[in-house]
Amino acid sequence: MNSLRKRRTKEVKIGNIKIGGENPIRVQSMTRSPTRDGQKVVEEIKRLEGAGCEIVRIAVPDEPSIEAIPYIKERISIPLVADIHFHWRLAIKAMEKGVDKIRINPGTIGSREGVKEIVKMAKGKGIPIRIGVNAGSFPKDVLEKYPRSPAEAMVEVAMREISLLEELEFEDIVVSLKAFDIQTTVEAYEYFSQMRDYPLHIGITEAGPMPEGAIRSAVGLGILLGKGLGDTIRVSLTAEGVKEVEVAWEILQSLNIRERGFIIVSCPMCARCAVPLIELVREVKSELEKLPPRPLKVAVMGCEVNGPGEAKDADIGLAFGKSSAVLFLRGKPIKTVSFSEAVEKLLGEIEKM
Ligand code: SF4
Repeated sequence: MNSLRKRRTKEVKIGNIKIGGENPIRVQSMTRSPTRDGQKVVEEIKRLEGAGCEIVRIAVPDEPSIEAIPYIKERISIPLVADIHFHWRLAIKAMEKGVDKIRINPGTIGSREGVKEIVKMAKGKGIPIRIGVNAGSFPKDVLEKYPRSPAEAMVEVAMREISLLEELEFEDIVVSLKAFDIQTTVEAYEYFSQMRDYPLHIGITEAGPMPEGAIRSAVGLGILLGKGLGDTIRVSLTAEGVKEVEVAWEILQSLNIRERGFIIVSCPMCARCAVPLIELVREVKSELEKLPPRPLKVAVMGCEVNGPGEAKDADIGLAFGKSSAVLFLRGKPIKTVSFSEAVEKLLGEIEKM
């Protein structure tokens, strides 16, 4: 199945899963609900889990958020990551309350003692730390050193953060180097991967709303994954988190990296199409969403003449004529069905498969 070779990185354990090394690339997302509202967060995480999210991050900005962690942790089955800025005591408390990973930049803590305390607890509990560098928040001296190379600036910041942890003999590290600009992001990850083998969390940051953000993320993540870079992925969208997870899976499936749900193969239509194909595809898609996800390619094609051949890679499909449709399996017609019952017959065959 794997058509792209992933660069070998160090293996890191996050709760009940492992990332890096030979492990599959994992899909990650982040909650939007206020973390202090544990019930809302759990409901949101359940929706994300249902869509295929494998690691979930929550922002932990204050004490009430810390108090919600045990409630959340008890009710979900995927690893929980706490995103913390500046406050090392919050990081310590989040680890005490049971998170599986923290995302914090040691350089922004402003206290060597604080970093030491975080590392001590993370070591003791086997909790990894993600260093997340975002373009646009560089120290002044780094900006002056690399005025025209944001990618190098990002890597320099990451290396400074890493050295704070490595000096304390802590190597359970995950790194992300995200920018809105795709070229900058790709250069930063490439440059970094030549220096260290820590697992990489990849994404295009602030990618935007749908569909622009999905397209931008697909282009950026596609380039990175094509180069073998990335151990966990997040698609950052101004949308419901479930959309992020769906797009992430679509990217992984498009590159034959991982399999999960139905893949719809449908033609762009031409003058040979005599049916409302857009509506028919929408109907098939919504019916498939009601079934448990399976890695099956389902075709919906606009004419009987070329449809089965053009979609011969699909596992099963329908090719529509004016008043009937041909049901085909891997390009070979198996029966003709009436237009009105075509979708139902297709779903019936899928359930039998
Ligand atoms: S399958 Fe038929 S209708 Fe669709 S693009 Fe091809 S020739 Fe045109």
